[in-house]
Amino acid sequence: MTIHIYQARLLHYLSESDRTERTPSKIANANQPDYAQVSTIDQSTTLLPVTAGERIYPEYIADGALVVDDVTGRIVEYGHSKTILSKYANAEGKPAVKVHDHRDKLIMPGFIDTHVHYPQIDMIAAYGEQLLDWLNNYTFVTEANFGDPKVAHDTAQFFLNQLLANGTTSAMVFATSHPLSAEAFFAESHRLNTRMITGNVLMDQNAPEPLCVPAEQSIRDTQNIIDKWHERGRQHVAITPRFAITSSPEQLRLAGELYTSYDSVYLQTHLAENRDEVAFVQQLYPNHKGYLDVYDDMGLLGRRTTLAHGIYLETPEYECLRETGTQISHCPTSNLFLGSGLFDLPKTLSYTGVSIATDVGAGTSLSMLTTLSEAYKIQQLQSNQLSAHQGLYQITLGNAQSLLLDDKIGNFMPNKEADFVVIDMKATELLERRMAQTKSLEEQLFVLMMLGDDRVIEQTVVAGVSRYRSAAS
Ligand SMILES: [Zn+2]
Repeated sequence: MTIHIYQARLLHYLSESDRTERTPSKIANANQPDYAQVSTIDQSTTLLPVTAGERIYPEYIADGALVVDDVTGRIVEYGHSKTILSKYANAEGKPAVKVHDHRDKLIMPGFIDTHVHYPQIDMIAAYGEQLLDWLNNYTFVTEANFGDPKVAHDTAQFFLNQLLANGTTSAMVFATSHPLSAEAFFAESHRLNTRMITGNVLMDQNAPEPLCVPAEQSIRDTQNIIDKWHERGRQHVAITPRFAITSSPEQLRLAGELYTSYDSVYLQTHLAENRDEVAFVQQLYPNHKGYLDVYDDMGLLGRRTTLAHGIYLETPEYECLRETGTQISHCPTSNLFLGSGLFDLPKTLSYTGVSIATDVGAGTSLSMLTTLSEAYKIQQLQSNQLSAHQGLYQITLGNAQSLLLDDKIGNFMPNKEADFVVIDMKATELLERRMAQTKSLEEQLFVLMMLGDDRVIEQTVVAGVSRYRSAAS
């Protein structure tokens, strides 16, 4: 066993209970009245929480050190580098210690992407259509290739490596309707030991015949995948109906029954992304009160459900999201690329948890930083603001909270899994020049959020193991 100490600037976000665990009373009682002067927790910044009623605190340590145990792959502790280094230097008879010097770099928790389609990496940036034509003309054509195990395996491998090159260590992912597409993804993720969520896509109507699987067979496929992969290592299964248009009422109802028979399996689908889509659902389900009511009626809603988009919702639908605890995943680059519409982030967060995601291949980048940059612009068009702290909280701890994974990942609290990224804030000439003009941490983080992308990711560590290093590092 080796203890790895990563010396760097550290930035992460704490929940109220994390903060209580970290601080004042304990330390004040320990008779260190000067604690306030060394506290690295920012108690003045107000962030919109993903979990209603909770307060979120940024914590930044300029001369930080993150301690990782390479046997458990977990975080041991973090703090000021001086304290940490002297503690481990004096630890006689303790395991070997290796210090990694990244003092000019920023270390953050690994990014989390809550909605992305791995097979669509092969048709990202396909020209000229809005949602329904884009699905028919590009997406379904590409997804039809995933009956071939070699295509599924090679694409899963390529996609996961791309995620890591973008600093993303966990994701909620769509496969295709071929069970082997989900299996291939899990096999590769399991090998890398990344914490991932996926499932075979359920479709039995309004899609090309080779992609349709009859309702009962498709649910049996999902059941088999759950039996084989759910909570095996770091893998989780999501029941994955594509959306209300491509599943029969029977398929949706069976999916709902399967979902309610478990207390930890996820469910993911799409909701109210595009006006034509909403109108089509209304036509298919004329007796329902709206799009979300179809899912509610089929038993698909709940705290473990994540619905991508949710742009066009009525007040009763927002209330239904709140009542059921159903989460929304906001996909900025996708909404702009397909011309879908402008998502109101603060409004939706006032009703339920909202995570942020890429939605590749309608999204145009796997970088969560690029995604935040577009999220900022979408809010600007609606006179809303999105601060760097809000954005960076959301793609780390916030997304973990939305996916109920915040007991495992999302920040540097002791015993969490050591998924993190080493970020070079001066990775390009422009960034270096612009950073030299900044006067505060907030300003630097905002520049990072607007100009950063895969080029700033120097290294990505998954459960304590380095899985990506940039060519420059
Ligand atoms: Zn999607």
